[in-house]
Amino acid sequence: MTADRDRLALAVDIGGTKFAAAIVNGAGEVLVSRRRDTPRSTDPDVVFAALTAAIDDTLDSAGRSLPGTGSVDAALAPAIGVGTAAPLDLTVGTVSPVNIPGWRSFPLRDRLVERYGVPVGMIGDAVAVAVAEHWKGAAQGYANVLGMVVSTGVGGGFILGGHAVTGSTGNAGHIGHISVDPAGPVCVCGGIGCLEAISSGLSLAAWAADNGFTDGDGSAVAVAQAAARGDAVALEAFRRSGAALGMAIAGAVTLLDLDLVVIGGGVAGVGPLLFEPLAQAYSRYAALGFASRPRVVPSQLGGAAGLIGAAAVVLAPDRYWPSGPNGS
Ligand SMILES: [Zn+2]
Repeated sequence: MTADRDRLALAVDIGGTKFAAAIVNGAGEVLVSRRRDTPRSTDPDVVFAALTAAIDDTLDSAGRSLPGTGSVDAALAPAIGVGTAAPLDLTVGTVSPVNIPGWRSFPLRDRLVERYGVPVGMIGDAVAVAVAEHWKGAAQGYANVLGMVVSTGVGGGFILGGHAVTGSTGNAGHIGHISVDPAGPVCVCGGIGCLEAISSGLSLAAWAADNGFTDGDGSAVAVAQAAARGDAVALEAFRRSGAALGMAIAGAVTLLDLDLVVIGGGVAGVGPLLFEPLAQAYSRYAALGFASRPRVVPSQLGGAAGLIGAAAVVLAPDRYWPSGPNGS
């Protein structure tokens, strides 16, 4: 294990609410991590500056930046692994995250290579979570896994046959944007009745507000606190969220004959409030025997999963992407 601990990567997790950077070792341990809030600016360079501030802080704290420059000491952190909010396009290295309006076809990979002078590998943030849970977390030893994040949005990534599934452009696993209700609300992506438009923290809080919920700041956290006290609207908000998740998971498991489903993210952190209605809907909609077999379990790595999965792009590329970097 010593050799694992000597191998290092600079990992970056790009989300709609925060940018995080870290030095992660081959044992999947986060050694140093720094973050910034995601800017709401529509200026792509302002958004990029917040990202590089988080990265530079991390490098400085770890003593791995080259003095007087913005470059990484390549002997100490030889490459950067990025897990980014989606959509992205791995064929050209660009990102257009739904929740980061300042970046549309933003050339993230080239900009990071240009600034830091080391190779950059990029994957979707939810794929990063799936890889992390398989590499070092709850899904170790399972060959076929759906990893999900239920937080501000809803994301997913698949491990099939022990390898990460990338798809044509890096966007495989977008379970948050499949429809689970043809009469449901319009989604931020433009679709109708998407899982994310019902189950995400933002969506369940919006549904509660529409149904008269006024506690605290009205956030998903406030809804969870009210649900724990037995508030009927708050309980129903989580029941709807869990039921839609169970329906979508039943579809994914039926399509892909999975072994395990791992769910992380802040909304999943409420536990039985979400997992009980989820389990009921899953067992109702997964009608075929093989599809009802997999267990649905909480994340083991929590908020660090995105960084650990991004690090795997550098530290375990042959294991998860055997057909080459970024699946190309
Ligand atoms: Zn959608």
